[in-house]
Amino acid sequence: MRAAVVREFKAPLVIEEREVPQPGPGQALVRIEASGLCHTDIHAAHGDWPVKPTPPFVPGHEGIGIVEAVGDGVSDDMIGTRVSIAWLGEACGRCDACLAGQETLCLQQENSGYSIDGGYAEYALTAADYCVPVPDGVDPFDAAPLTCAGVTTYKAMKVGEVKPTDVVLVSGIGGLGHLALQYARIFGGTTVAVDVVDEKLQLAQDLGADVVLDARSDDVVARVGELGGADVAVGLAVSKESFDTAYRALRRGGRLVLVAMPADGVMEVPVFDLVVGGKSVRGSIVGTRADLSEVFELHRLGRTRVIYETRRLEDVNACFDEVLSGQVPARLVFDMQAG
Ligand code: NAD
Ligand code: ZN
Ligand code: ZN
Repeated sequence: MRAAVVREFKAPLVIEEREVPQPGPGQALVRIEASGLCHTDIHAAHGDWPVKPTPPFVPGHEGIGIVEAVGDGVSDDMIGTRVSIAWLGEACGRCDACLAGQETLCLQQENSGYSIDGGYAEYALTAADYCVPVPDGVDPFDAAPLTCAGVTTYKAMKVGEVKPTDVVLVSGIGGLGHLALQYARIFGGTTVAVDVVDEKLQLAQDLGADVVLDARSDDVVARVGELGGADVAVGLAVSKESFDTAYRALRRGGRLVLVAMPADGVMEVPVFDLVVGGKSVRGSIVGTRADLSEVFELHRLGRTRVIYETRRLEDVNACFDEVLSGQVPARLVFDMQAG
C-alpha cells in the first residue's frame, strides 16, 4: 500500500510502498477512502510541539474508510461498515477522565497520525472501540473534515458555553474556522469572523457570518466593542498575536477558548483585567466519540456544509505549502482511490 511518511522533522514527506498491516486483538483494518489534511499534521511533521511524535510515522487523523478485516475480539458485523479515524486513536477506558466521558483527557491515550500511524495511507489500523461509525447519508469526503475540524470546533462551542444571545468571535477562518462559524450559528450566537487572507474573508461572508473583520486593517477590538464585546472568542489562527487580540475583544464574563497551537505558543494574560472582569481562558482539545457522532448527525440533517478540494496523496508536500500560504478554500482532502 502507498503511505506518506514523515522520516525526519521539517523534511518533505516520502511516499512509500508498505505492507498492508494486519489487525491485532481489538483492532480493525480500514481501507481509507478520504483523508483530510489538518494543520496539526503540519505541526506533527515539523515537530512543533513539546510532546513530539517519533519518525518514521504516517500522519493523518481525518481518515474515513471501510472496514475490511477485524482482529480477535471484534465482531465481524463491523466488516463493510464506514468508520472515521480521529485524533483520539485509543484511550484506557478506565481512568477518571474516561469514566466521566472525557476520554480526550485520558493520560494514556494514543493519537492517530502522531503516536500511532494515521490516515495518510491506503490502509490504516484502528482500535475498533474508538473509531466512530459514519452514518449513511454522510459523504466520506464531507466526513473527513468533520472528523477533526468539525468535532473540534463543535466541542469548542460547548467548552465556551455558547448561548443564543452570545456574540461569538471566530479568529481564523481556515479548515476549523469555516465549521466553527456554522456551529456558532447552530448554538444561536451572533458571529464575528476574523482572518487575514482575502479569500478566507470572502468565505466567511459566504457562510453568513454576521460581521467579517480583516485583522490586517480593521481594529478588531474596537469593532467587536461596538457590539458590546465578545461573550466567547475561539482562537483558531496559528498566530500568538491573534490570541491577544481575541482576549482584548472579550466583554466582562467572556470566555476565550484556545484551540490553535502555534509552535512555542505562550500567552500573557493581564491578571487585574481577568479577575475584575470575571473572564476566563480555556483550552479545548478535539472532542469525544459522542461529540463526533453529534457532528455527523447534524451533517446528516443538512445543518452543516463542508468546503473542501480533493488532492492526490502524492502531492502531500505541495498541499502543506498550500495550507501554510493560506490559499486553501477551507480544507484539502486526499482522495485515496486516485493516483
Ligand atoms: P488552517 O491553516 O486551515 O487555518 C488557519 C486560519 O487562520 C487561516 O485561514 C489563516 O488565514 C488564519 N490566520 C492566520 N493568521 C491569522 C491572524 N493573525 N488572525 C486571524 N486569522 C489568521 O488551520 P486549521 O487546520 O484550521 O488548524 C488551526 C489550528 O488549530 C492549528 O494550530 C491546529 O494544529 C489546531 N488544531 C487544534 C485542535 C485541538 O483539538 N485543539 C484540533 C485541530 C486543529
Ligand atoms: Zn483513560
Ligand atoms: Zn486535526
